[in-house]
Amino acid sequence: MALLQISEPGESTAPHQHRLAVGIDLGTTNSLVATVRNSIPCVLADAAGRNLLPSVVHYTSKGADLVGHEALARASQDPYNTIASVKRFMGRGLVDAQAVAAGQYLFATMNQASSIENASVQEGAVKIKTAAGEKSPVEISAEILRILRQRAESFLGGDLVGAVVTVPAYFDEAQRQATKDAARLAGLNVLRLLNEPTAAAIAYGLDNKAEGIYAIYDLGGGTFDISILKLSKGIFEVLSTGGDSALGGDDFDKALYEWVCAQTALDHLTPQSLRALLISCKDAKEKLSSQQQAFIPIAKTDGTTAEIAVDRQTFQTITQLLVTKTMKPVRKAMRDAGLTVADIKGVVMVGGATRMPHVREAVEAFFKQPPLTDIDPDQVVAIGAAIQANALAGNKSHEHDWLLLDVVALSLGVETMGGLIERIINRNSSIPCAMAQDFTTFQDGQTAMSIHVVQGERELAKDCRSLARFELHGIPPMPAGAARIRITFQVDADGLLTVTALEQTTGVQAQVNVKPSYGLSDQEITRILQDGFASSQTDMAARALAEQQVDADRLIQATRSALQADSNLLSKEELNSIHTHLQHLIAVRQTADALALKQAIKTLAQATENFAAIRMNAAVRHALAGRNVNEII
Ligand code: ADP
Ligand code: MG
Repeated sequence: MALLQISEPGESTAPHQHRLAVGIDLGTTNSLVATVRNSIPCVLADAAGRNLLPSVVHYTSKGADLVGHEALARASQDPYNTIASVKRFMGRGLVDAQAVAAGQYLFATMNQASSIENASVQEGAVKIKTAAGEKSPVEISAEILRILRQRAESFLGGDLVGAVVTVPAYFDEAQRQATKDAARLAGLNVLRLLNEPTAAAIAYGLDNKAEGIYAIYDLGGGTFDISILKLSKGIFEVLSTGGDSALGGDDFDKALYEWVCAQTALDHLTPQSLRALLISCKDAKEKLSSQQQAFIPIAKTDGTTAEIAVDRQTFQTITQLLVTKTMKPVRKAMRDAGLTVADIKGVVMVGGATRMPHVREAVEAFFKQPPLTDIDPDQVVAIGAAIQANALAGNKSHEHDWLLLDVVALSLGVETMGGLIERIINRNSSIPCAMAQDFTTFQDGQTAMSIHVVQGERELAKDCRSLARFELHGIPPMPAGAARIRITFQVDADGLLTVTALEQTTGVQAQVNVKPSYGLSDQEITRILQDGFASSQTDMAARALAEQQVDADRLIQATRSALQADSNLLSKEELNSIHTHLQHLIAVRQTADALALKQAIKTLAQATENFAAIRMNAAVRHALAGRNVNEII
């Protein structure tokens, strides 16, 4: 039988073979796929030479028949089976979905996924009605990803090793998981999910430059995101995020459309030609980024066509308010990160809508420096993802063989006896990482253990954030302190935490998955950290007291059970002495005096020393001595 081969650490498994990997920007409006060929990142176009794939899927009773430009073209004839902007619903339940829909302009009927009337909820997740039945956002996104996968495979001429898929920095665990599921459904191996702003920073090679703080300004079709990233030692840390989920390039189309409507009597227009007018306004808006003037055709019901001219100055005047509106979240994100404009080393422009000159001017005026615009803002996220995918697939030479690191924002641990925290993974540990620690039982014959996973910098569990609770059953009955339960914390590259508890002798185990930052804003993280620093003095005292209390409880309990079982082994004096010290300890336990408690524990331990020695059960002796192991129940 042939032996299995193992390559050297750091060596790729097939050194001479380029492993095909891609980066995918799964956008709300448009999606793209990119790869690195001969060390140069490039976006892959379709057969017609188009880079962008509109994130639109059209359904018939047989299933999804059109994706992208062709689906978009069907939108006006068959709006209810043409799903756009489905990214807004990824990993969302109905309540969130209603909030999303309420924040939307149900202006273009093709934005059907924005309309909650077509959505229902199954097993807590949103489903959207189509001619092919109800479809989940994951299934719809998978159709888009499948097209991109096929595009990449036919262009590269082989199967993909995997893909890096980008997600907004604010995506929570459910939204990230949904994105992963969609990729898997599309037959893609997800090498990693990457934050969109981080991808943009990588595309500009900021990870190779000096350390510093960067702002990523992303104005897409329907959303605006601002992210403040700190780069140090190859680690990108998200300092703050903000934005407006109902503000994007579409609003500029709409503003222009309304202006056109105000200029002309449009009573003669059919719903179809109104929709066509909106599309013309979008075209005109895009042209005005590079031209001074554009013309908008208006098809009238009497068959005649009129044309209205709009110049750049007019367009900028009617949309200036929208540009100004993006600055509010920018200021807030800066405040949240505790920064001033002088702290920002560079500003990266992302999203098709940042091509508009007045957007660039506003950003330049705010940050007092010209933003980075050399890389096509439509493509910058996909390019960064491709560079990262290339590195993860092992195609880079050793000296550049860095992996992008993220860090755990807050410490992770478990609650132990007395409501104390045992930290397993410290904050700022780079991910992926795994740490394990052994724990034991608190009571004789204990067969189950309840594990409380917490996050935060404080010493007591009640001051930390509860992430999950789970139970381990099937621990064989043993004296207290004899069982060995190994608890392992593992944080993967996507920031997902898995906690496993394993009983060492029987191998019984239980586990739970959690996203440590789930539902926590960066602001909250900062607050938790500050709380932790501010309270460290009082926390230390509280911890010392709690530790004594745990020791006291353990000793009281062990003494009682020993007395119950074996008091006949003791002389009357000995029994009396133990009782007296025991009662004293019980009394002191009621106070908050850590020193007195320590003393009382010591005297009872001394008083029971001989008793322990004469007891046969070595394990019980163990418990009586009040050994300081980390227990949890
Ligand atoms: P998303 O990230 O939401 O998928 P994109 O980054 O692809 O979106 O941005 C799409 C938006 O960019 C659309 O509103 C589109 O009209 C706008 N856009 C694209 N090119 C230009 C341009 N040349 N001038 C102005 N806006 C543009
Ligand atoms: Mg985008």
